[in-house]
Amino acid sequence: MIWEDCDQPSQEVYFECPASFEDDIAPNPNAFLLAGIMPATDRGEHRVQVEGSVCPELRNGLLAAFRVIRDCFFFLGFNRYDFDAYGPVPERLQDFERRLERMSELAREAQINLIPVHTNIRFFARDSNAWNKRGMGAGLASIAHAFSPRIARVLIGSSGSIGIPLPWGTHPLLDPNFSSTNLEVRHDGLQLSRLQKTAIISDWPAAMRILQCCWQNEGIPTSINCGYCGKCLHTMIQLAALDKLDKTHTLPHVEITPQMVDNELLRDADDAASLQECIEHFSRKGRADLVEAIHKRIKRYHNEIHRAGFRTAIKQWDQKLTCGLLTRSVRPVLGLLRKLRNKL
Ligand SMILES: [Zn+2]
Repeated sequence: MIWEDCDQPSQEVYFECPASFEDDIAPNPNAFLLAGIMPATDRGEHRVQVEGSVCPELRNGLLAAFRVIRDCFFFLGFNRYDFDAYGPVPERLQDFERRLERMSELAREAQINLIPVHTNIRFFARDSNAWNKRGMGAGLASIAHAFSPRIARVLIGSSGSIGIPLPWGTHPLLDPNFSSTNLEVRHDGLQLSRLQKTAIISDWPAAMRILQCCWQNEGIPTSINCGYCGKCLHTMIQLAALDKLDKTHTLPHVEITPQMVDNELLRDADDAASLQECIEHFSRKGRADLVEAIHKRIKRYHNEIHRAGFRTAIKQWDQKLTCGLLTRSVRPVLGLLRKLRNKL
């Protein structure tokens, strides 16, 4: 990848797979266009040129995708974990090998071919949000395009609940635009709520044996889920609502308590909606304590959103009228008050 408008060194883009699948992979220009277009846009490049012919359907799809992206608001952050300056960090590679082992087991049982792929396309994203909130769908589709001699359709699993999800790198309004005449890219499972997806997984014993939801499993050799982070709690509560928590050995078999519901991480409306879905199930089980805890947790989430919205409105108003003078003046006073409160 050769950059024109930003100060970046030239880099090689690669897709690799085991030699047994060598006939299934090809240097498809569509794959390299999709791998490069989001990083190029993020870094302010004015054009993208790819050697070879790009499918006209993909070109038109990308034009449509950028109209969607332009209307979305994204935060920027910095990725400190996945990659150092040269490539994936060793912890991430180890994690890949562990996942590959588990997925191979699942593939054997389901009698499907698993093709492990190594690629550095994520390395070109400028930070984690550039990948998660913009580049992920195009990046995943680029891998499928590299395998276009074998694959005619690829499904990207929906992560949201029912309805149009919040802006994210994979999205029903974006993913189909990454299709070509030879490869259909489909955003799959939008019709299912998160609890319904959990119910499908919970009825598949092979999947329950390797179920992983945790973000914080690094350095835990005995388990693939920590059992206490927000994601683990969320999954445990949903499985308990479905009476299936004891069907997996990758999460602790514990009685769900109101405190666990209170500790659950609700990042957005999707999280709140999927917790709400559990009310009916716990109500049928006579767990009034959990029903009450869920109502309280959702109410707290809405209050936090309301307060955050109010703070943002004040800051925007202050920025417009006084160039942020009020915010800058109040901040040290609030810091002093916090210190005094801690001493008391
Ligand atoms: Zn966890």
